[in-house]
Amino acid sequence: MKNKSVIIIGAGVAGIEAANNIAENGYNVTLIEKENLLGGNLKNYAKLFPDFYEAGEVKNNLINKLNSENINVYNNNEITELFFENNKWQAVNSQNQKFLADAALLTTGFTVFDAKRKEELGYGIYDNVITSLEFENMYKTGKITTKQGNIPERIAFLNCVGSRDEKVGNHYCSRVCCINAVKQASEFKEIYPDSQAYCFYMDMRMAGQFYEELYRKSQEKHNVIYIRGRISEAAATLDNKIQIKSEDTLSGLPLKMTVDLLVLMVGIEASIGTNQLASQNEINGEYGFAKSKGLYGNDNITNKKGLFLAGTCKRPLTIPETIADAKAAANQIIKYLNQI
Ligand code: SF4
Repeated sequence: MKNKSVIIIGAGVAGIEAANNIAENGYNVTLIEKENLLGGNLKNYAKLFPDFYEAGEVKNNLINKLNSENINVYNNNEITELFFENNKWQAVNSQNQKFLADAALLTTGFTVFDAKRKEELGYGIYDNVITSLEFENMYKTGKITTKQGNIPERIAFLNCVGSRDEKVGNHYCSRVCCINAVKQASEFKEIYPDSQAYCFYMDMRMAGQFYEELYRKSQEKHNVIYIRGRISEAAATLDNKIQIKSEDTLSGLPLKMTVDLLVLMVGIEASIGTNQLASQNEINGEYGFAKSKGLYGNDNITNKKGLFLAGTCKRPLTIPETIADAKAAANQIIKYLNQI
């Protein structure tokens, strides 16, 4: 083991991937996670877009590599302070325990938008308005039903909940929720081919590899109906269905529809940990995300010497992008540790 060390804060996809890469090169890694289980947001997904790959397999492959003797994992440890002092990066947890290292990597990830902030959509008020994460949890059980236990004959997915929305202050696109809606609508139709799935969108952003193909297949094979328009209001009927009001912006006509389940595709926001630790180190960027030194070749380094970034603590990224970014961060850290 080389006599240099790094603290990694957050054991999601980016944190674990970076830890494995750095440890393989002989450096000592302290990987700190606030939750009991490792894997971050990946734990919340059943299958991944665009190829329906098992999320659990990706997570287990990452975690299984953590058995290097160079890696010490501390779960149930929430880091509340991160600072550079006496030539060391120091991370302090909520019990005031200190972890010291030569470099620090923030991989504090993201959180999803709290759908209750869009009161007009009825989340937290009506039983059958759920989020895309709750849909994913139901899908894991193999059974997607209404709260009353019925098979939904009609389901609607609403894109851009908490993203591209001036009212909530998030102007950015979360990048993953369009394709996630296509994936979830397809999964729903695989289970219930006789039910109808609708997806309300502003634009369908299908920029990733095989996204467009999946979008096309969802229409041709599963007959998912895409409606260009934002839902302005959702309300429950006496029989627990959800009545939605929208406008079909292609035809310019107002639209009312009753569905059994409304799924809100909640966007990505900076996690509290990201916001807090980035602010302490004056590397806080827009919308609470952490800010790298620059997008072109400097995206894993910061204005603070020895403090690095990887993954969705910077902005919304897909899982393959996060893995690639973590590898890049690990390379930068190894280079740095070799020089000091
Ligand atoms: S990816 Fe799609 S649903 Fe998500 S914010 Fe962007 S446009 Fe909206």
